[in-house]
Amino acid sequence: MAAKADMEKIVSLCKRRGFIFPSSEIYGGLSSCWDYGPIGVELKRNVKEAWWRAIVLERDDVVGLDTAIMMHPRVWAASGHIDSFTDPLVECKSCHLRWRADAVEGTKCPKCGGELTEPRMFNMMFKTFMGPVEEEASIVYLRPETAQGIFVNFENVVTTSRKKLPLGIAQIGKSFRNEITPGNFIFRTREFEHMELEFFVKPGTDKDWLDYWVKERFDWYVKLGIKKENLRVRQHGKDELAHYAKDCYDIEYLFPMGWAELEGIANRGDFDLTQHSKHSGKDLSYYDAEAGQKYIPYVIEPSAGVDRSVLAFLADAYDEEEVQGEKRTVLHLHPFLAPIKVAVLPLSRNEKLVPLAKEVFKRLCSTFVTDYDDSQSIGRRYRRQDEIGTPYCVTIDFESLEDRQVTIRDRDTLAQIRVPIEHLEKVLEAKLKGEAFDASPLWATRQK
Ligand code: ATP
Repeated sequence: MAAKADMEKIVSLCKRRGFIFPSSEIYGGLSSCWDYGPIGVELKRNVKEAWWRAIVLERDDVVGLDTAIMMHPRVWAASGHIDSFTDPLVECKSCHLRWRADAVEGTKCPKCGGELTEPRMFNMMFKTFMGPVEEEASIVYLRPETAQGIFVNFENVVTTSRKKLPLGIAQIGKSFRNEITPGNFIFRTREFEHMELEFFVKPGTDKDWLDYWVKERFDWYVKLGIKKENLRVRQHGKDELAHYAKDCYDIEYLFPMGWAELEGIANRGDFDLTQHSKHSGKDLSYYDAEAGQKYIPYVIEPSAGVDRSVLAFLADAYDEEEVQGEKRTVLHLHPFLAPIKVAVLPLSRNEKLVPLAKEVFKRLCSTFVTDYDDSQSIGRRYRRQDEIGTPYCVTIDFESLEDRQVTIRDRDTLAQIRVPIEHLEKVLEAKLKGEAFDASPLWATRQK
């Protein structure tokens, strides 16, 4: 039976197994800042890699980019962020806690019941100073989205990549937002990672491309194992649209605290390139040789959060099951996302078993992210691997010394097959790519 993951259980599993720790924990932590541990960093890398592959490497109409976090301050004037990247803020007159106005129901402070001030607009960009003098002229901002790094490089990329429209430019990187009410673990933080694609198209084709990208992005989550019934698409009402957007859809996920945005897919029209053309004095229009026309392209932007996706993948994979009278917690992560693909587990620390187990580890670790563990009972080691979502455990027992065969255990079905060591890489590779676990080749005899 699938247990609906609650947030406390996920946070506790993340801490216990090395996915995610509170930042600066030995100093009491820093509000809403989190660090990825040894297991979490692998999961996060895999999420980014899955996105990069689907968006950049497996297409011929998208290229990648990696731009600086700090940009010329005029970028943010042109993009509208200095004037419009604001949230309405209310403050409690008694306890002075501040809230995002649209997150509070009624006129009383949710914490102490005190009276709230009228909303005022609060700019969410982090400001700092570049260089040694703290003066108005040296103010720079930490980017609140990676998109602007793409827009200001549009011309550089078009001329150097020699590609025609439609052309996408993709980037993964840190963004910073001084959120008024961060929270829900890694759902909303002030420092987070974005995965953004700006897909430049001919005006008039933008509606079709928006539909196309909504579907592509929805399918990406499903392909990576998120249950369809936990995803939905919601179109923004006119009053909700960001200052740059003509139209926008959210892909929402049923998070432990309820339905919430996982990714936004916006039609930014020609807003950004037009603004940067005006403010920089550089003509950013595109010459379409086929149509014999010059125009400012429209932009479709699928914009996803790495951390929010990590949370969705964790919540969706989380399960508590009863196995042979015992309770186990397991993450049914898609093999591509699983932080560790294979765990090599000698039955015990017996001096004869360990060298063979080490030999197996050595064989596998250059091909798969592999864990070696010989501490504690085999049962406890299986439970640890289940909790971090390791698809396969390879066990070395005394028979292995005789026949050079090892047992592979499947995380989801708990089925086991016995495989000669010399075929291990091939078998694991096929299973990780989705071959049925019990599709045993002739030489692999089913054990149980
Ligand atoms: P929200 O309405 O939740 O504040 P948004 O509409 O401002 O989000 P976008 O600007 O569309 O968000 O950013 C795209 C994606 O970036 C979001 O769908 C989310 O996955 C991620 N994201 C945005 N803000 C944060 C944040 N503060 N912490 C973590 N992820 C975020």
